[in-house]
Amino acid sequence: MKRKKLVAGNWKMNMTYDESVSLIEELKQISTNDVDVKIAPSFTNLNNAVSLLSLSEIEVIAQDVYLEERGAFTGEISIEMLKSVGVNSVIIGHSERRKYFNENDFILSKKAKTAIDNSVNIIFCVGEELSEREKGNHFKLIKNQIICGLFSLDTEQIKNVVVAYEPVWAIGTGKTAENYQIQEMHEYIRKLFDDKYGSDISRQIRILYGGSVKPNNAEEIFSLKDVDGGLIGGASLNFSDFNAIVRAANG
Ligand code: PEP
Repeated sequence: MKRKKLVAGNWKMNMTYDESVSLIEELKQISTNDVDVKIAPSFTNLNNAVSLLSLSEIEVIAQDVYLEERGAFTGEISIEMLKSVGVNSVIIGHSERRKYFNENDFILSKKAKTAIDNSVNIIFCVGEELSEREKGNHFKLIKNQIICGLFSLDTEQIKNVVVAYEPVWAIGTGKTAENYQIQEMHEYIRKLFDDKYGSDISRQIRILYGGSVKPNNAEEIFSLKDVDGGLIGGASLNFSDFNAIVRAANG
């Protein structure tokens, strides 16, 4: 089964309103062709990004969402709020959320379930710290993150999930994982889905790689058997880099 490649740009806490408008105007030139292209601006830029891209194939998604549906949670953003501005997908479990905001597996599984229960698709991030890899714990750790975060979803729900494998030591460091490290982890993740949900699902589920994907390495990474595209941080803030990465995904 051929899986459609996906390239998602995570803008993180970058881009003022005006800067985001300029970048989006450039992004309109991207030819998505056979690739799903998404961008995740900050909350303050979502509404405008959705209207600016209303005629484009590029989907606007959120970087995070709160786990409760509504109520007295000062400063948080709900699923319903995202949907009300035309956002129907969200990134959950980015390593920066795990690390700086103490989001643990329990919190992340609740976020994943809240999103999916409310028909919002998710890109669920997993990844190990360098120290865990050096101790040889990386497979076990990723398995735990996936089982705890996602495996309470049923067979229908899991179809709305994309996984992003992002080794923490490769994020924003300019250091990419070796191709064999990427492929073996993606294959391992796919096998977890196979064991839990069967081969139809495991063949469909898209697994992105994230960690210093740039125009000069994207094509090689995207050609790996179990890599279905990328979650892009730094290079998504620059039109020509992001465009080149989308082109690489088109092959
Ligand atoms: C990310 O934050 O998801 C990421 C992959 O960042 P970068 O591409 O900058 O390493």
